Amino acid sequence: MSLYGTYDEANIFARIVRGEMPAVKVFEDDQVLAFMDVFPQSKGHALVISKVSKARNLLEAEQQTVAALAAAAQKLAKAAAAALKPDGVVVTQFNGAPAGQTVFHLHFHVIPRYEGEPLGRHGEGMADIEELKALAAKIAAEL
Ligand code: AMP
Repeated sequence: MSLYGTYDEANIFARIVRGEMPAVKVFEDDQVLAFMDVFPQSKGHALVISKVSKARNLLEAEQQTVAALAAAAQKLAKAAAAALKPDGVVVTQFNGAPAGQTVFHLHFHVIPRYEGEPLGRHGEGMADIEELKALAAKIAAEL
């Protein structure tokens, strides 16, 4: 998948937004949804997506979508920092397969980092869902 193309309504995040696939949610409103990444690169790795935009990536996104997602990413980063006490937080966003994008519905990653703990590989190693639910509840409690 390149940087350019048409939005696929069957992509996994579109299905999560429509409630066709489960997600371990942290928070949502009418614009955005934050949920735990099921292949986390660190403890507390979560994602924020738009619930209304059909942008595949940042280059296609409407300014108001970018603003809503940036605000949600900040909210999530602050809550994750308060809940999990990491030593750092990475906020990333990939555009196009060569850049590392695997799901073509615009999203931001919020990845807590812990001193001395290497980052896990991108999209590998499925998490225990009960553990993700516990982490999501801990983060949500700090919103
Ligand atoms: P990217 O590679 O930037 O497109 O990121 C997509 C992310 O979505 C990866 O980190 C995957 O681990 C994650 N992911 C894929 N499927 C799901 C899912 N069903 N629920 C939660 N996260 C997912």
